[in-house]
Amino acid sequence: MPAVFFIIRGETEMKFDLHIHELTHSKDSHLSLEQIVLEAKSRGLEGIAITDHDVLGLRAQARFLSARHNLPIFVGVEVYTTLGDILVFGVDQLPAVEEGKRIESQQLIDYVNSKGGATIAAHPFRSNGRGLGEALYGLTGLTAIEGYNGRTTKGHNDRAADVALALGIPMTGGSDAHAPGEVGAYATEVSGVVQTEKDLIQALKKGRCYPVSMTGLPLGNVAGLGAALAADVNMAADSEVAV
Ligand SMILES: [Zn+2]
Repeated sequence: MPAVFFIIRGETEMKFDLHIHELTHSKDSHLSLEQIVLEAKSRGLEGIAITDHDVLGLRAQARFLSARHNLPIFVGVEVYTTLGDILVFGVDQLPAVEEGKRIESQQLIDYVNSKGGATIAAHPFRSNGRGLGEALYGLTGLTAIEGYNGRTTKGHNDRAADVALALGIPMTGGSDAHAPGEVGAYATEVSGVVQTEKDLIQALKKGRCYPVSMTGLPLGNVAGLGAALAADVNMAADSEVAV
């Protein structure tokens, strides 16, 4: 019954934390995948993404725990490119890079797009020198910008959100959790049913996403964005957002 399907898509909102580090591959994380899953469920998240530093791992464990806990678990990666950190979804491997070197930011974005995947500029204005920052204006083909990151100051998050709005690029939120209690600090609300990584990528590419907080953290001037986008989505569930 297509009509019913349309109504469900238009009115369903699902929340995903798209930026989490697990201890197996992120040596700076104190969270096991099972801990992350339990915390995500207790926070009311409908899914999570593991984005370890420069490693695409854990897929078998993610499949196992996803089935056991009935929670979508996506495995992406956070790549430290020449200009800053970029979250990647939808690829099975990363291009080879000479040892000790980092991949060019635009090269990674183009590669991921060629595979049908998605890229998100992680915490672009964080002051540790690992955000894309002003380079956002020169890069093309980014899928989204992480407007709100759980380990970034409010001022730097607000700046990222302002740039995403100015450039007309979809915006996400993610906790960047490395320790207990951090999962869901920020998350991404997606309009429509998202069960697979492909669904997630489609939603991001169509701009059917906006940042939220599961713990009441501030969202600056995008606090009303969700309602506005949801209204748009309800009117035209499949309209393409220019990026
Ligand atoms: Zn991170």
